[in-house]
Amino acid sequence: MPPTPNTPPLPWADGAYSIKRHGVSLTNCDSEPVQMPGCSQAHGVVLVLRVTDLSILQVSENAATHLGLRPEELLGKSISTVVAEEGERRLRECLEKEPIERNPLYVYTLPARGSAAALDLSLHTIDGLAVLECEPTAREAAALPDYYALVKKSVARMHAAQTLPDFCQIVADEVRALTGLDRVMIYRFHADFHGEVVGESKREDLDPWLGFHYPAEDIPRPACEIFKKIWVRPLPDAAAPVMELVPLINPDTRRPLTMTHCALRGASIMYSEYLQNMGVAASLTLSLLVDGELWGLIACHHLTPTQFPYQVRAACEFVAQVASLQLRTVEQRESLDYRLRLEETHNRLVGQAAQDAGLAPLTVSKPDLLDAMDATGATIFHSDRWWSVGDTPSDAQLDDLKIWLDARPEFQSAKRPVFATDSLVRDYPGGAAFSRIASGVLALPLARKMGSVIMWFRPETIQAVKWGGNPHAKPMVTGPHGPRLTPRKSFELFTESVKERALPWKSVEIEAALRLRVLIMEVVVSRADQLAELNVNLTRRNEELDAFAYVAGHDLKEPLRGISKYTHQLLESAASTDGESRQRLEGLTRLTARMDSLLDSLLHFSRVGRATLRFQPVDLNEVLEEALEMVAARRQEVPTTISIPHPLPTVKCDRMRAREIFVNLLANAMKYNDKQEREIEIGWRTDDTRGPVFFVRDNGIGIEPRHFDIVFKMFTRLHGRDAFGGGSGAGLTIVQKLVEQHRGSVWLESTPGTGSTFHFTLSEPLQP
Ligand code: ADP
Repeated sequence: MPPTPNTPPLPWADGAYSIKRHGVSLTNCDSEPVQMPGCSQAHGVVLVLRVTDLSILQVSENAATHLGLRPEELLGKSISTVVAEEGERRLRECLEKEPIERNPLYVYTLPARGSAAALDLSLHTIDGLAVLECEPTAREAAALPDYYALVKKSVARMHAAQTLPDFCQIVADEVRALTGLDRVMIYRFHADFHGEVVGESKREDLDPWLGFHYPAEDIPRPACEIFKKIWVRPLPDAAAPVMELVPLINPDTRRPLTMTHCALRGASIMYSEYLQNMGVAASLTLSLLVDGELWGLIACHHLTPTQFPYQVRAACEFVAQVASLQLRTVEQRESLDYRLRLEETHNRLVGQAAQDAGLAPLTVSKPDLLDAMDATGATIFHSDRWWSVGDTPSDAQLDDLKIWLDARPEFQSAKRPVFATDSLVRDYPGGAAFSRIASGVLALPLARKMGSVIMWFRPETIQAVKWGGNPHAKPMVTGPHGPRLTPRKSFELFTESVKERALPWKSVEIEAALRLRVLIMEVVVSRADQLAELNVNLTRRNEELDAFAYVAGHDLKEPLRGISKYTHQLLESAASTDGESRQRLEGLTRLTARMDSLLDSLLHFSRVGRATLRFQPVDLNEVLEEALEMVAARRQEVPTTISIPHPLPTVKCDRMRAREIFVNLLANAMKYNDKQEREIEIGWRTDDTRGPVFFVRDNGIGIEPRHFDIVFKMFTRLHGRDAFGGGSGAGLTIVQKLVEQHRGSVWLESTPGTGSTFHFTLSEPLQP
């Protein structure tokens, strides 16, 4: 695509790029051709040779320093000018026999000549060219240790590691022992490419960076691409100048040299400045690759310029390769351990839920849903409500999220019904309101029919990790190359957030959650079966009780009528009966009348139990009005103030039964009241678990707490038979029965002498 007028052509568009000449800017740093920097590092020389005749096509500008000859004295000449006939023969032999395509190999050490030091020569081929790198040898500098023995020990220690943190620590320790550098870090890439220091070995006086996270931008993509191709990247002196290749464009290929595999490749100014900002003078970076992908890096820093002799680099390369292979095994073992731990917790959790009352224990007793996952919040939607633990969005936010989730294709999947994200807002804009606590969501439907769902949450990553740098601070400074991006000047602990993104869910976690889902569903189904069985038993018992009450009430009425009849006859026929006998007969009449009223109550009670309810939406204001009319006569006896502060709602219930509940409670509220000014208030409130709760409050005589339960028992009266206008003691029992038929409950609060409040609901409280 031709550049638009707004995007200036890249400074290296003609191919003649050199990091020495061209600065990078904010807009082009990501496209910097880091594999073709056009420059070598100053401590050595790069010579590019034509493969056929080994003539010199390109050479770094500092050739004179190390070879004693200037570029113009070398270009077009045979390599024998530098390495003599014998050297040329060895190079040619290497070219012909060794696998050196994109794979530098040490060939031999060119002895010191005059003022020039001895040079280690390594050779590789690329794009039809031979690249000869010459670096001052470290062989003579000091007696080098036995790297073979050191590496052997390192490998043995790495094999013994049991956990990933142990393994990373061992690798860091071993690489530091091999190199003697000031700090060695194991840097791991997360799925979003931000990095974390997961192992560190360092000089004691340095600050620890272990556990720090660094934003993805710290290691640009082009650099990551190089690390996939090479094992070792040495930079012995980050502050040293870079040396341009002469000429920049290769005369044979007409292209700049691809320096990916050159140990002497000049470093991006971005990178060397980045290191200097950290106070680092030299770095050695090793790749950690798992399945061809960059798992992480072994980043070694030294605070003074140093040398990385060929032998050290070779030993490190070997360690990095073994570590990469071993990493896979350790990770597999680690994820197996984690899986077993999760499964064990899940089994305990489900066992508990099976024993206890349903799914509520998943969030209220230990272990809970949070122990079942590495998360900071969890919730379960069951029986029409949320049961949450830890940091979770509000119920209203969860309601909306659930509606959205229910429509997701992931939730419809029969095989893997699971939705997992590390950034909810990416798919669900509503998540922005709670991204701080729940950017990561792992959600599974439980029993679709019941609309149940289980979710875990993870906070924005910043809430959970230590940042080794401010991921959003890219200060513009004016440097030698004009205004451009400069890596951060400080590696202090920053707390700037990575917006709306959580640590991603591991596949072992998603698999474990799916398994837990199956287990929970088994419990839900078997509990539903148990409940159904219990219900059948209970219904049968209730029916038997109602039948008994009916038979008792009905059959006893008959003989009672007989007794009443004979008593009347006796009273009438024995007008002469003495006063005492007459009194007894009159007593008998009263007793039979009372027994008759008790039997009426019993019959009524049994009828309540046997009747089928007609549930429909009922405006309770109308019901209350009717009930008030029915108690109007009593109201006239004693003036009573009745207040209804808020209109009642419309609820699904049996209209006649609801009215009977109100009539009974209102009648009692008027009856059991000895105040001059009788006051009754009827109202309702909403309750999270119970739905609407209604109440009838009076300023009457009150009830002592020890009687709160027994007032609901059949034929229980707390007063003398005829006190407060008498009664059968069945009213509240019937109220209770009616309420229970609506799967609601009734209870009271009262202060003797001050008044009572009877509360009731018309639907069962929501149970998990
Ligand atoms: P009854 O009113 O026929 O006696 P109930 O079952 O309605 O039967 O009430 C049982 C007992 O509970 C009553 O006898 C009374 O002692 C007590 N009670 C009921 N409602 C009230 C109330 N609002 N204030 C005080 N006591 C009450």
